[in-house]
Amino acid sequence: MVATAKGAPVTIETVVVPDPGPGEALVDVQACGVCHTDLHYREGAINDEFPFLLGHEAAGRVAAVGEGVSGLSPGDFVVLNWRAVCGQCRACRRGRPQYCFATHNAGQKMTLKDGTVLSPALGIGAFAEKTLVAAGQCTPVSDGADPAVAGLLGCGVMAGLGAAMLTGGVGPGDSVAVFGCGGVGDAAIAGARLAGATTIIAVDLDDRKLEMAREFGATHAVNAGREDAVEAIRAATGGFGADVCIEAVGQPRVLEQAFFARDLAGTVVQVGVPTPDMKFPDIPMIEFFGRGGALKPSWYGDCLPGRDFPLLVDLYLQGRLPLDRFVSERIGLDQVEEAFHKMERGEVLRSVVVL
Ligand SMILES: [Zn+2]
Ligand SMILES: [Zn+2]
Repeated sequence: MVATAKGAPVTIETVVVPDPGPGEALVDVQACGVCHTDLHYREGAINDEFPFLLGHEAAGRVAAVGEGVSGLSPGDFVVLNWRAVCGQCRACRRGRPQYCFATHNAGQKMTLKDGTVLSPALGIGAFAEKTLVAAGQCTPVSDGADPAVAGLLGCGVMAGLGAAMLTGGVGPGDSVAVFGCGGVGDAAIAGARLAGATTIIAVDLDDRKLEMAREFGATHAVNAGREDAVEAIRAATGGFGADVCIEAVGQPRVLEQAFFARDLAGTVVQVGVPTPDMKFPDIPMIEFFGRGGALKPSWYGDCLPGRDFPLLVDLYLQGRLPLDRFVSERIGLDQVEEAFHKMERGEVLRSVVVL
């Protein structure tokens, strides 16, 4: 499924996939979720390197590996990731590989039949029967997990879980407020519950989404269209505000609410992706200083795929993490365009292409 030009509907094309070279792996894709980022690529909001081979929240089986690849074999069940850390950049050398600035992708290019080079979304490109990635982008996980479910860890769901569990450092007894209850926000709610939060406040403008947020573990629901979100969060936390506020929308107004809905020395995590025209909210500097705490953007939930995907899949298989609830529908490759529209209308958490 390829985005050929800015704003044009996506189309199915024949893709030429090279055999894996050194350090690369060829993967038979079994399932791939439809993410907002795919739509952003299609709309030219990421860069202009059309055509894009879309799709990046995927699971599948390794079909072949290139020279020098160890720890990965044909037949392995893997979730694909876009953080294959290099181990050598300044972040990796400082022991912070989650910030790796030189993550690996396949060196060879996938092309259209006429030789036109494709840009794979987030270095993956998994709305395809086969895709070529760097071996480090394949994270083996327990066999037996449904690929449509496990694949979602590859991007948005991991971003949300990690926003709470890793970036936000949510712990037992914490209070957490999550602004925006789409796939990422609901994953943040599930992550907060898994981490032991006892008060979890879901904030959205849509009552249907708030209802769903309760299924993921929200203990309170606030419709910010009808009541003041900051006041409602204070009321639910003994008048103080939440220990961790997670902004999963990507809007200055919402970030401002998250800022003021914290307890003193609380943490704001920004995981909703803003657009380039947005400005930081106009907050008096004395409030920044006086309230203390931390404001933390979260990239991919600060995850390390090799550490986090296997354990999250196991928690799912043990019934402790309801990953399957993120799958709203299973669709064919030819229904991606339709799935974009459903996503824009807020009708689905995740449409997942099953191959
Ligand atoms: Zn690195
Ligand atoms: Zn994504």
